[in-house]
Amino acid sequence: MSNKKIALITGATRGIGLAIAKDMSRHGYIVLGTGTSENSVNYLKNELELNKIDGKAYLLDIKDQESINNLFKNISEDYSDTPDVLINNAGITNDNLLIRMDDSQWFDTIETNINSLYKISKIFVKPMIKKRNGRIICISSVVASTGNAGQTNYVTSKSGMIGFCKSLAKEVATRGITVNCVSPGFIETDMTNKLNDAQKEQISKNIPTNKMGSPEDIAYAVSFLASDKASYITGETINVNGGLFMP
Ligand code: NAP
Repeated sequence: MSNKKIALITGATRGIGLAIAKDMSRHGYIVLGTGTSENSVNYLKNELELNKIDGKAYLLDIKDQESINNLFKNISEDYSDTPDVLINNAGITNDNLLIRMDDSQWFDTIETNINSLYKISKIFVKPMIKKRNGRIICISSVVASTGNAGQTNYVTSKSGMIGFCKSLAKEVATRGITVNCVSPGFIETDMTNKLNDAQKEQISKNIPTNKMGSPEDIAYAVSFLASDKASYITGETINVNGGLFMP
């Protein structure tokens, strides 16, 4: 068994998740990342190799309890250990005004972004409790604080995430486990590439720094929360948004 700590990042194939994977590796973690398809898992595997990252890529559909159970089993077998840090990053948007929203848009977003949090945190927190040490970090969103027209489903999931983290933080605080959120503003990834240039320009105008953030901006906050330096921070949300929203 290696003495390196293990970090599991869901949705590590691109965007914020991939940046977190790279930064956690720089901080000395074994990095385990997930993708939803053979293609994206292979892409991540390649990224890990190219960047000489000690870790492994796994298949995961976060909506599916069996897929989560398999992930837990495979990691336990591969490493004879379980993750010290769980980073709940995988998430989707599926926007529409409430009156036009299909049931599938609502339920798919809730299932992917929030019911998944219950499923995956429950299984991975148990060994952390036994070890009396651990970190759970969840990627929420600025819109959890501000609301956003066209995103009732997404905002429900991302604000639910903050409440979930506060409650779990209280349950496990005496076991040396912290549970926190990082709330990104608008970050340049595939998720925001759905916006056209005019929309991006309009968004940037409203951000005090006048620009969208990079995935690395989020990764640095995550690595800090994972570190020993953040051991007295729990149930907290770090906003990383260029000043777009100040609580
Ligand atoms: P992204 O580029 O769209 O990447 C999403 C990641 O999630 C991919 O790795 C994807 O895997 C994975 N994923 C999607 N559905 C999944 C499922 N059912 N099971 C497991 N994994 C799944 O997203 P991003 O912009 O990096 O966002 C990452 C997180 O930050 C999300 O939770 C998002 O809500 C949050 N966030 C993003 C922004 C932003 O401006 N970008 C702002 C606030 C919050 P595949 O590659 O296999 O599809």
